Formats: sequence, structure tokens, C-alpha cells
Amino acid sequence: MSNIFDPRFKTTDRLDAVLVGGGIMTATLAYILHKLEPSWRIQVYERLPFFAGESSDPWNNAGTGHSGFCELNYSPQKEDGTISIEKAIHICEQFEETKQFWSYLVENNVISEPRSFLNRIPHFSAVFTEENKNFLKKRWELLKQNPLFSEMEYSEDEQELKKWIPLLFSGRNKSDSFAATRVKNGCDVDFGSLTKQIFEYLATKENIELFLNHEVRDIDLVEEEDHLWQLKIRDLKTRNKKFIDSRFVFIGAGGGALHLLHKTNIPESKGYGGFPVSGQWLICQNETIVQQHFAKVYGKANLGAPPMSVPHLDSRIIDGKRTLLFGPYAGFSTKFLKNGSYWDLFESIEIDNIKPLVMAGIHNIPLTKYLIHQSRQSHEDRMNELRNFIPNAKNEEWELKEAGQRVQIIQKDSEEGGVLEFGTKVIHAYNGSVAALLGASPGASTAASIMIEVIESCFPDEMKTKWGEIVKEIIPSYGTKLSDNPEKLSKVRKRSDRLLMIN
Ligand SMILES: Cc1cc2nc3c(=O)[nH]c(=O)nc-3n(C[C@H](O)[C@H](O)[C@H](O)COP(=O)(O)OP(=O)(O)OC[C@H]3O[C@@H](n4cnc5c(N)ncnc54)[C@H](O)[C@@H]3O)c2cc1C
Repeated sequence: MSNIFDPRFKTTDRLDAVLVGGGIMTATLAYILHKLEPSWRIQVYERLPFFAGESSDPWNNAGTGHSGFCELNYSPQKEDGTISIEKAIHICEQFEETKQFWSYLVENNVISEPRSFLNRIPHFSAVFTEENKNFLKKRWELLKQNPLFSEMEYSEDEQELKKWIPLLFSGRNKSDSFAATRVKNGCDVDFGSLTKQIFEYLATKENIELFLNHEVRDIDLVEEEDHLWQLKIRDLKTRNKKFIDSRFVFIGAGGGALHLLHKTNIPESKGYGGFPVSGQWLICQNETIVQQHFAKVYGKANLGAPPMSVPHLDSRIIDGKRTLLFGPYAGFSTKFLKNGSYWDLFESIEIDNIKPLVMAGIHNIPLTKYLIHQSRQSHEDRMNELRNFIPNAKNEEWELKEAGQRVQIIQKDSEEGGVLEFGTKVIHAYNGSVAALLGASPGASTAASIMIEVIESCFPDEMKTKWGEIVKEIIPSYGTKLSDNPEKLSKVRKRSDRLLMIN
């Protein structure tokens, strides 16, 4: 097989696994792989001077433990008026699996203080129109029949709602139509703290090496018969280049993943493109207001708005401090990473993805217009949106902050030529020697579930052996559909609540 690299540079290492990127996904995968095969030599490469500097940073995401409790876009209403709850159920199950993984980390002293990354904050969905009230009630009636959502409550009673979420009622007009659902045991997660703590633990392991300030520039197959990949890596501090060989590569580079996936040239990578969406939050500067709200309150997206721009008023706990943010306000930027380049979008164009990109672009002109319009909003415009939630919010009490960058997936479609997807997707070579994670949602909350999917796709034979047993030790409900098994659900929830201190 051809080697694209400069022959003057020789490879120095042959590894079992190389993970690209230092976010929550690679931290999770590195930990699980190390558990499965402690003798494997694993290296992790991150281009920034610290871990969790992109989407996994707590200020770059909303920190919601996505479980379908409050996110109305996970239970969409179809044209015939029926509500589909399958996605909410699936995401809730993935979150339960991920919580079990975090419980295992606590049980095994990888993390000593669970509150350093996870806190219980009730999850609410709130709506402000008669039409949306009907939707919310129907959704609650459907969801509460499922054991995963049996604790969900619904109310349109003003007195009760004032007790649940008082801040939303200060200055609200009596005639406003209002309803909400509540799940008390929702979670707020500091994915940055979690990522760093996992890497701190892994740094003590002999067979694991972690590199900061190192950017993976190229990935090429060197010996197809051995499934061996060669990576070209630049030390961004010394400017030195190095080459390493690895039997398995996981591209967990967030917004940088598409670029590297294209570099692998595997047939499975063909036709994929990316659509970047930037984000902004309003952060509350007034401590008295912050203390009046202890909830994650998700609303319903405006007509034509993308699902990731559903407005929410979020209590957060970051570095032990309570804070309040509202957003995200989605916007348009051509960068794929917050610390990336404005050329990212243009450099992602390849011969095989031009058609899907153009066709998805044509089908999504209203979305692009919406994002550009959102980017041009004034502080007053943004505050007006916030006033749907807090009617008497004052301009000077809220400050704008940049959120993380998301790259939505564009893929080929036989009917439309190209479509825009809002989920995540694991792409892997037929022989499992390389895999990449594309997309952004539901994201970090489902990290353990998604990384297990990577392992299942790339190592199906190993999973039939002791690997499968070890995964069951880490995630006791692995292989069980929790929504069909209330007894198991109750057992694993109790265990997670106890270990993660969220009961
Ligand atoms: C605005 C916003 C709100 C969100 N809200 C939530 C939420 O409430 N709940 C939730 O669960 N999820 C949320 N998410 C999604 C979640 O943040 C992501 O799914 C998750 O952080 C992705 O983790 P990751 O490890 O894949 O990527 P990242 O954390 O982005 O890590 C990828 C890393 O790869 C590095 N990298 C890139 N290219 C290279 C290269 N060539 N060489 C070396 N390193 C490289 C980057 O520097 C980066 O550190 C949100 C995301 C955004 C943007």
C-alpha cells in the first residue's frame, strides 16, 4: 500500500490504538479499551494545550444530562398530530447506560467526588401558548406510561407552577397561557471536569500516553493486510513531525473529525460533508437572580428553527459555583472548531461530497437564512427571546458568551441528493481498523453508549469473548432494553443515584 509520507521520516512506534482528540468521547473510549485490554499500548493526541477545550468544555455546551425528560425536539409532533416518543426513549436509555459507566468510575476511585461533575437539577419543559399546551399534555400522557418517564409530572396550575419555577412568573401577565412538565431527578453535567478527571487517571497508567499540543495531520493505510494505519503528527510547540503506526485508530476529534475521516480515504467515508452551526449564550450576572432558579427549563423551538436552537434557561454548576444561562442562539460560521479556521468549511469539500453538500444547501436555504439572521441579532432581540421565559429580565443583567461549535452531518440521499442530519453517526472501516464519530447530538450525555457502539462495530469478535463480560461489569444493564424491564431499570437507577449522589 502506498505511503504518502515523506520517506525521510521513519515511524518510531507501533501501537494498539491511537485516539485523536481530547474530549469526553476519547476519554471514555480510552478508559474502556484500557479496561478491556490493559496490555494494549494506547496513545491519545490533542491539538490544544489542555483536554476538553472544545465542545466538552462546560461553557461550550449546556451541560444537560440529555435523557428526553425536557427536550421537546426528542418527541416531535408529526403532520397528522401524533407524537413520536421513540427518540426520547432511546436517548433516555443511552443516558442511563452512561450514568452506569460514570457510577463505575466512582466505584473504582477514578473519580472521588461525583459532585465535581454531576449534580441533580430538575428538568422542565415549559410552553407559553394554548396550542403548545395541548402538545405538552399529550406528550406527557404518552411518556408517563413508560417506566423511564413514570416520574414525570404535568401542571397548568399557576400556584403549583410558581412553586416549581418561580423566576418564570416574576412579572408574568396573568392571562399568559402556561404549562410545564417536571422530572425531579434530571442532571446537570460538567463534561469538562469529567473528561479531565478521566485523563488524569489514565495518565497514571503505564500503557497509556497522552499528548497535548499535538495535532494529527494525516492518516494513511500502510499495510492493508495488517490493518495498519500510519499517522502524521505535528508537535505544535516544537514544530517537529512524528509518525506512528497503529492497528486501530479512533477519530474523536469533534469538529475536526470529518477532515481526518476524509484523509483515511476509506470507502465508508465517501459522500459525507459538514454543516457548521455556531452558538451563543446569555449568562446572568446577577447573583440574586441566579439563586432564584434551580431548574433546566426547555421550551419549544420556533417554527423553522433547527432542533439544536431550542431555547432553554439552564441552572448550571461549574467549578462548584451556580450559574444561569439562556440559549443557545444558533448562528452561522464556517469554522468547524471554535479554535479552528474560517477555511474549515471550504477545505471539507471533496469531489464525492460536492453533490450532497450542494443539494443539502439548496434544501436548507431557510435554515441558513435563519442562522444568518440569528447571528445578526442585537442584545435587545436576544433579551426579548429571554423575556418569554423571564418577563422582567433586564438587559444589563445578562452578558453574551460564545458557545461551542457544532458540525451537523450532511450525507448522500438517493431521493434528495443530500440531506442534513442532526444526530451523531459512527463511521467505521469494514475491518474495524478505523472509526470516526461525526455529528453533535445528543452528544456527551450518551458518550458511554456511543463508545460501546464503536467497540461493537470495530471489535465484534472480541465482544463475543471476555470483552462482552467486562462491558457488562461496567454497564450492568448492557444488552437489556430498560424501557421493557422496569425491575432492572429501578435497580440500575438506584445504584447510579447512590454512587453518583443524586438521590
Ligand atoms: C452549544 C452546544 C451545546 C451542547 N449542549 C449539550 C448538552 O447540554 N448535553 C450534552 O450531552 N451534549 C451537549 N453538546 C454536545 C457535546 O458537547 C458534544 O457531543 C461532546 O462534547 C463531544 O465530545 P467530543 O469528545 O466528541 O468532542 P470535543 O469535546 O470537541 O473534543 C474533540 C477534540 O479534538 C481535538 N482535535 C480536533 N482536531 C484534532 C486534530 N487534528 N488532532 C488532535 N486533536 C484534534 C479538539 O481540539 C477537541 O479538543 C452541546 C454542544 C454544543 C456545541
